[in-house]
Amino acid sequence: MKIAKKSGQTKPVNLKLQIMDEQGYRYKGPEGYHSFIGQVMAHLGYVGGYETGNIGAHILLSDENGIIDLTCVFIRDDKKWKSRASIIRCGHTREDIKNCLIHWHERFTGNKTGPWGTLMGVRPTKLVHHFFDRGFGDKEIITILQQQYRVEKEMAERLVHMSRLQRPFVMEPRNHVALYVGIPYCSSHCLYCSFPSRLVGKEEEAGLQAFSKALETDLQDLNKLCRQYSLTVDTIYIGGGTPTCLPIAILKDIIQSVAANFSPVQEWTVEAGRPDTATKEKLALLRQYGVDRISVNPQTMQQRILDVLGRHHRVEDIYTMFNNCRDLGFSVINMDFIAGLPVQNVKDMQENMEIVCQLWPENVTIHTLALKKRAPLFHHPLRDRIPSQEEVTKMLEYCDARLVEKGYIPYYMYRQKYMAASFANVGYAFSDAIGKYNIQMMEERQTVLAAGPGGATKFINLPEHRLEKLYMPKEVNAYMASLEEKMQLRRKLCTYIYGREDR
Ligand code: SF4
Repeated sequence: MKIAKKSGQTKPVNLKLQIMDEQGYRYKGPEGYHSFIGQVMAHLGYVGGYETGNIGAHILLSDENGIIDLTCVFIRDDKKWKSRASIIRCGHTREDIKNCLIHWHERFTGNKTGPWGTLMGVRPTKLVHHFFDRGFGDKEIITILQQQYRVEKEMAERLVHMSRLQRPFVMEPRNHVALYVGIPYCSSHCLYCSFPSRLVGKEEEAGLQAFSKALETDLQDLNKLCRQYSLTVDTIYIGGGTPTCLPIAILKDIIQSVAANFSPVQEWTVEAGRPDTATKEKLALLRQYGVDRISVNPQTMQQRILDVLGRHHRVEDIYTMFNNCRDLGFSVINMDFIAGLPVQNVKDMQENMEIVCQLWPENVTIHTLALKKRAPLFHHPLRDRIPSQEEVTKMLEYCDARLVEKGYIPYYMYRQKYMAASFANVGYAFSDAIGKYNIQMMEERQTVLAAGPGGATKFINLPEHRLEKLYMPKEVNAYMASLEEKMQLRRKLCTYIYGREDR
């Protein structure tokens, strides 16, 4: 068992949320602004992506002749606050709209917006790397975040410390790349999940074999590109879905194919999210081909919650799988947890963290439930049993404090577009077990090649680090049908990025 090293710099973050009852908003205006307004409102703590009966804000926007007319009415109990502004359309129109809404909301509530200030992006540390590129020091960046973006001091410090830790991983040569492999099959659908995976039990063997064959073609094509343009794959991540739910013969074909085309690598992760699918035999197979990082994803450790989520396994299965992974010598075990599951309470999350402290996985990832329209939970009665923002905040604060106290370092984070208020998903690791792929994928400084349904290849176009993306269809049949065409497009993109003399 590894002994965690304490980080001298990392302090737990106090989320200090301004809690409200769940409130929605209504928007009327051009469709082109709808998604952006949704992000701003989620940032302010208004439920995004779906409506509730309790409407706390109306936003009206028109865009005519270069002038944006923005009106917002905030409503709380019998109190209403109406504000209006005319904004000249220019290069920073959205920034202006965002600042108006945040400013009005602060005046209406009499409270500051929270730890993130006006910083709203999905990847907050990207901005810090941008400042590092321009030669700013840690202290200067903390000041900029506080003064220009009104980020609270603790959060600003955390973002800068986290980015400093990530810096060596994002400064690798441009021909060092990561590989993602998508396996869109699961053993059952979890209530909260919106991912369109297929149920492996309903598949014919021939269908799985056809998928495996297509994936092999996809991987071979990527291998050719790597050889042609001298790209080195440093990290591999096989996710999904639940790769380990595949029958062992199919899993073996896929792992063999990945290994034949790309191994050895510095870090090779497989998501084994459902412990009932990851038998010791399958885990041994992964180890045999060089997988060294494994994700055991309990999400939570209470049987009553696993049952309502439709995760058809026992809590004991999680311990069995964890111990099998230890016995087999995986060098890094990650455990994913979700805060905000239906019927979950703060005590449950405290219990989860105590179990983490006993098991000591090298990595722990704390997610916050982001309810999406495609998830079965969206229309399910248990939606009413999702804990309040206040409870979720307590869960996250507890996790952060406990993990940091035990020597885990927060090393990457991301927010979801419509994630309520201050919430973020955070990856924690012991200092000698930082997950390189997670940083590279999140910071978007390294090319990520992707194979399989739903895979997003992202080529980094220097010097601005612009992304040239290519998405594979999520649905298996559509993926197989369009594979040849997609591979051609991918080759063209790769030639454009890596085949140019001046690059
Ligand atoms: S195992 Fe993972 S991918 Fe599959 S349904 Fe559950 S949460 Fe979604």
